[in-house]
Amino acid sequence: REMNDANLGKEKKNFEKAFESFVRSNSSRQIKKTFDSLLDQLGIDGRQVHAEGAEPAGRGRRTRLLYKLIEARTDYWKSNELWKKYDERAAGPEYANRSQGSARPLRVLIVGSGPVGLRLSVECALLGFQCTVVEKRDRFSRNNPEHPGAAGWRIKCIPEGHPVAAQAFDAVVGADGRRNSLPGFLRREFRGRLAIGITVNFVNYNTPDEQKVAERGGVAFIFDQKFFLELRRETGIDLENIVYYKDDTHYFVMTAKRHSLLEKHVIKEDYADAGQLLSKDNVNFDNLCAYAKEAAYHSTGKKLTTLHFAKNHYGQPDVAMFDFTSLFHSENASRIVVRQGHSLLMSLVGDSLLEPFWPLGTGIARGFLAALDTAWQLRGYADGRPPLELLAERESVYQLLSQTTHDNIGKSYHEFTIEPGTRYCNLNSVKRGGQLSEEQVRALYDEGSGPIYSPKAGEHSILVVNGGKPQQKRERIRNSATTLLHWAQMVVQPFSLRIEDFCSPAWKDGSVFLAIVNRYKDEYVKI
Ligand SMILES: Cc1cc2nc3c(=O)[nH]c(=O)nc-3n(C[C@H](O)[C@H](O)[C@H](O)COP(=O)(O)OP(=O)(O)OC[C@H]3O[C@@H](n4cnc5c(N)ncnc54)[C@H](O)[C@@H]3O)c2cc1C
Repeated sequence: REMNDANLGKEKKNFEKAFESFVRSNSSRQIKKTFDSLLDQLGIDGRQVHAEGAEPAGRGRRTRLLYKLIEARTDYWKSNELWKKYDERAAGPEYANRSQGSARPLRVLIVGSGPVGLRLSVECALLGFQCTVVEKRDRFSRNNPEHPGAAGWRIKCIPEGHPVAAQAFDAVVGADGRRNSLPGFLRREFRGRLAIGITVNFVNYNTPDEQKVAERGGVAFIFDQKFFLELRRETGIDLENIVYYKDDTHYFVMTAKRHSLLEKHVIKEDYADAGQLLSKDNVNFDNLCAYAKEAAYHSTGKKLTTLHFAKNHYGQPDVAMFDFTSLFHSENASRIVVRQGHSLLMSLVGDSLLEPFWPLGTGIARGFLAALDTAWQLRGYADGRPPLELLAERESVYQLLSQTTHDNIGKSYHEFTIEPGTRYCNLNSVKRGGQLSEEQVRALYDEGSGPIYSPKAGEHSILVVNGGKPQQKRERIRNSATTLLHWAQMVVQPFSLRIEDFCSPAWKDGSVFLAIVNRYKDEYVKI
């Protein structure tokens, strides 16, 4: 019995070690490796689980089977805490009875595994969807079953022949950060006054002295003038704000004023163009490091005395300076395209949808809210809700999202679910009259027959329907005209202009032209 107990103790220790390695993994390869070793420790055969969870219930069922096995075989306080949280979440009514049926689960592709894409993938798993996440920075080995010949939407991948290209999808979500690559979304740029951000990481040795140093939230100049003025007087460093977080590293983010960077010889020459101003050749990296270190030292009350730079992927001190003057947001959050009877829901989340503006201090919070909003839309889509109703609801919620701040969002965070009403305080007033009508979002429902063009590549459709026939020239022209009409409908949407076809009066009296110019160059035409 003693031997048995000793063995059990050893196994428990091994699991705890494997679990810790899994939690600490910070690359996709490592996550995969440590997860496999975790399964090994628990004596779980992933292939067996695959076989048990075979179609039609699909991958959603396999994920749950695997989770239940892991949960049943572990007893470690840290993992137990995690399972408890997960189980509480999964018991929510919005996920009830969604994944046990025999119908084919919704097939969702998420492009980008940043924090928001990953957050959405968790919701998709809870909703019982078959979810695939693609990430350009690294590649998981292929362990998902292929569906050769399955009808539906495919994605064109680079490199060609990637396993994901063989899968068919019902929905695709762009979670690929500010450089959104999903076609068909108009993006608007907001350029404010020049804002220069500096980020820096220092090694955290976790000494008692380091532990005592308090973190610093995003306090702007106006709220702590004494500190910023003293900093300027003592060091010549002039900041608009500075944030300090402590984790594996001591992490600082600050917004520096141009003149102080010039005076401290961080920037060599002054240029009007931000790109030229912050170009590598125009920055003295050693002085930048010294600037960041001095700011970090002073902003922590001179208490962090061992400020050793952490190293970035290139083995250099982890210090960066960049321009975040320009912010992007998308005009709409989603659209639905239908070709050859196959419908595809396209959505954006995270920075692809709406980039955070630092001085507002919203950070990634709106990104996570958008992930939940999109999960709600995907749920409605899977349930077969009418497309225009779904689009009108999603776009109305998106309008709320862009105005959301800490003050007008619900405060019972633990009650937040994917249902927007649990989060947005103003949703009821929107429902009472402000909600977009189905007519207003009609342009987002695309039943044309043309390919969906990537705005960058121009000539290449990145999304194709399996089994499409080559088009004749005449047909291609007709399709381009339809695309132009849909684009124009979308652009003039905020101006309450109705254009049903190219004969609508708004074309003839110049309103469409004025609206388009105002939309892109509002300095030329004021409306
Ligand atoms: C310097 C800096 C500091 C910040 N600090 C904070 C902070 O302290 N707190 C806070 O809340 N927010 C902070 N933010 C904002 C926050 O980082 C972003 O809001 C957040 O990362 C957005 O998450 P995301 O998942 O939408 O996009 P991202 O994090 O940008 O992730 C997108 C992912 O998609 C991948 N990808 C891109 N294109 C493709 C493609 N074609 N195919 C496949 N994959 C693709 C990328 O490799 C990436 O992994 C900071 C931002 C910056 C720039």
